[in-house]
Amino acid sequence: MRDISGFSRAMFSNWCWHEPFELLIDAGEGLQLALGQKIWAPEVVAITHGHSDHVLGLPGLIASRRFAKGAQEKPLTVVFPDGNSGVLAVRDLLARMWSFTEFPVTWVPVRAEGEFRLGKTRVLRAFATAHGGSEPTLGYAVLEERRRLKAEFAGRPEREIRDLARQGGSDALMEAYRHVRFAHTGDAMPIDPALVAGADILVHDATFLDGDDRKRDIHATTAEALEVGRAAGVGCLVLHHLSIRYDRAAAIPALRAQVAACGLAGGCWLLDEARLINLR
Ligand SMILES: [Zn+2]
Repeated sequence: MRDISGFSRAMFSNWCWHEPFELLIDAGEGLQLALGQKIWAPEVVAITHGHSDHVLGLPGLIASRRFAKGAQEKPLTVVFPDGNSGVLAVRDLLARMWSFTEFPVTWVPVRAEGEFRLGKTRVLRAFATAHGGSEPTLGYAVLEERRRLKAEFAGRPEREIRDLARQGGSDALMEAYRHVRFAHTGDAMPIDPALVAGADILVHDATFLDGDDRKRDIHATTAEALEVGRAAGVGCLVLHHLSIRYDRAAAIPALRAQVAACGLAGGCWLLDEARLINLR
């Protein structure tokens, strides 16, 4: 689990940093302090929704990048749910607090199924999530564009494949597909596993250990998140946003027992504040 780090404390601050992709998901408070000298590394911040614990680190990050000693002109793109008032309020706050400063930030509104290109071979694809209220909320998946041998040629001898390629060119043999390298639900009820099938890493809301504690359908239970990970066949599932009502000394063993019993094949971790806890 070297690719991601972050912070997750429900109603306080939530963010996740995917270092190899230079991608931040959400921007809770304290983000720029935790990143330290890495504040200039992010190329894209993808915001899942406008709740304060997901966006209030954004003005600090943007201002620190602009005013601290470092790559002050480095462009930053903020991808966010089109029309989300919490994100738009942060954009306005920056403009009002620093009215004589231009920030090298591009704000890109997206809707469900919208895509933003991340370099040559990857796209950031947004998907709709259920997190209550009337504001738009999104999850994101990083899809990598790859090529593979068409199924009809699988198992044929290598020599035959080479001959076919010589005759018809590689396009006759190969097909393009997209592999989910990383996905993040933000705060959400359980998502459709088909959206993240085969993901290398999935970060999923897991607020409630006990479904009876859920009063409104805006967050997933740990059991629901584990089932999404199992059904999607993810390589690694990271649970986040576990409610602070649960005493960790009892909650972590209970969660480990759930993981052991759920049939999830891959790794499983909990992002709890700044700690990534192995649940295996
Ligand atoms: Zn929220």
